[in-house]
Amino acid sequence: MRRAGLTGLLVTHLPDVRYACGFTGSSAALAVARRGARLFTDGRYTAQAKEEVGGANVEIVTRSPAISAAEWLAAQPGVEFAGFDSVHTTVAELNRFKGALPAVMRRTFFTALPASLVEALRLVKDEDELAIMREAALMGCALFTHILEFLRPGLREIDVAAELEYRARLNGAEGMSFETIVASGERSAMPHGRATEARLPRRGFLTLDFGIIHKGYCSDMTRTVYFGRPRADERATYQAVLDAQQAAVAAVMAGVSCGEVDEAARSVLRQAGLAEAFSHSTGHGVGLEIHEAPRLGTGQSSRLQAGMVVTIEPGAYLPGRFGVRIEDMVAVTRTGCEVMTPAPKALIEL
Ligand code: ZN
Ligand code: ZN
Repeated sequence: MRRAGLTGLLVTHLPDVRYACGFTGSSAALAVARRGARLFTDGRYTAQAKEEVGGANVEIVTRSPAISAAEWLAAQPGVEFAGFDSVHTTVAELNRFKGALPAVMRRTFFTALPASLVEALRLVKDEDELAIMREAALMGCALFTHILEFLRPGLREIDVAAELEYRARLNGAEGMSFETIVASGERSAMPHGRATEARLPRRGFLTLDFGIIHKGYCSDMTRTVYFGRPRADERATYQAVLDAQQAAVAAVMAGVSCGEVDEAARSVLRQAGLAEAFSHSTGHGVGLEIHEAPRLGTGQSSRLQAGMVVTIEPGAYLPGRFGVRIEDMVAVTRTGCEVMTPAPKALIEL
């Protein structure tokens, strides 16, 4: 805050609130002044806030926690300017925050932060977070092993999603980290093919992209398997994506730019004549949210730091034919990276 020239900070994005003080409820705002911090939430969370919150006082309010937090900040001695998260605050919300201030403060009190200060702290995971994320990633791998036994031609994609999600819950997951992607046959050419009533083919690819939430942290992985015996072009495309994925994993290291990791994958697919078929970026940060900074895309100049957790997920999509994606979650280290999702990547023929 000092470096950003702020004497106050309003934290409203819930993953940031959780990271900063431990509170996991669905309605909260955290106000931080130099002399102390206060978490505002509503009466449903009285007991939970008492149990979870560290480093901040708790105030139970009957109106909007964010407006109460804005009002409290403005009343703190020494707080002249407060930053707010311009990425997650709507124009309507900002107007309401301002409405809670004395008229003379409305124009100058709130400063829009281009990125939340807490998000910058969340980028690099500490040892406790990495331990949880390893567990989350391994829970994902166990689901993949389980679903391989379940898969057979004729099942609907939603049967596969249902089994995966049911098993995830039985295994202790708090939930799925995003809508499970099950894309079979021609549908595998859709990078975000959510599970439909389409039947798994006797011959063709099946892409599974899924993740669970464990102790608040997300996992994310993709594997593409084949029913029957792949044709030569299918095998070649799979191999190109696998080579690209492994090249990008090998490029990950503290100090390397996100764009360089993207290029490591992209150049392999380019050489295989699949430049057009790789229609998205190579990966993204993951943590309390399924998609967080950094983004591993073309030309991204931000540099990886030890302790970041990112996905490496190149793919090739040939509309009307098939698609392949392979995704691991990796933790950046000083000398390379640790692959957190060690499920097999050699083409599995079912
Ligand atoms: Zn994914
Ligand atoms: Zn992903």
